[in-house]
Amino acid sequence: MAIEDFGGGFGHAGLVQRARAMDKSGMNAASVLLRVARDFALPARCPGCGVVVEGDDRFCLECWSALEFLSRDGCDLCNMPMGGVEGMTCGRCLAQAPSHDGVRAAVGYCDIARGVALKLKYSGRPAMARLIAAQLVRHFDPAPGDLLIPVPLHRWRIWSRGYNQSVLIARALAGRAGGDLAIDALIRTKRTPLLRGLGAVERAKMMRGAFAVRKDARASLAGRHIWLVDDVYTSGATANACAKALKRAGATRVTILCWARVLRADD
Ligand SMILES: [Zn+2]
Ligand SMILES: [Zn+2]
Repeated sequence: MAIEDFGGGFGHAGLVQRARAMDKSGMNAASVLLRVARDFALPARCPGCGVVVEGDDRFCLECWSALEFLSRDGCDLCNMPMGGVEGMTCGRCLAQAPSHDGVRAAVGYCDIARGVALKLKYSGRPAMARLIAAQLVRHFDPAPGDLLIPVPLHRWRIWSRGYNQSVLIARALAGRAGGDLAIDALIRTKRTPLLRGLGAVERAKMMRGAFAVRKDARASLAGRHIWLVDDVYTSGATANACAKALKRAGATRVTILCWARVLRADD
């Protein structure tokens, strides 16, 4: 994919579209207008390093070159790169198979990928969700009947932050590539602390029973392939807990779609 693929119209129609897209993501009208006005007044900047770039939603060449774009030739379950060998399962997944059926990540986790994820998480910039969706499109090939479901946040976290970053990505992806969204089908029933710094076993323990499918959504998930949208895939604890809940509700397959996948244990 060429850098130009990050296009992003900036005429009046583009602004109206952007305002509408933001409105759909649950922000109030005043903040939408303020954000559109700010975006219009300021030049486009690289989401990685902040230098001025030619168009909206684009990386500068340096950041683009530094990103590690992942293909599907890693482990067929967790997507960990395996030196170009295809159709193999890594040792970790062989030892303990994940509850999900595969991970498709746009990039390897690095400072730039982390910066994009944080901007989406804490500044609520829809441009970040569009940029992530643009990179996830090549990994997303839904069949009729498949559903896109974002990893939910606990309602307390939504109240404090105002939105769920995974919902923004899922909406941007559905807007770009199509696919049916089921935003509220999966809910977070347990408030969990931040998992950073914890090992895989502790993370899995912490996430056990943290998700559930709403009773009224069960029928719509039965027999479906779910594309579970998240921002960052670390140990897989969150994805596994979600996949378990979705499969208990009758989903047949759960594929994880995420912006960045942690590739090294120290990230
Ligand atoms: Zn840059
Ligand atoms: Zn694996």
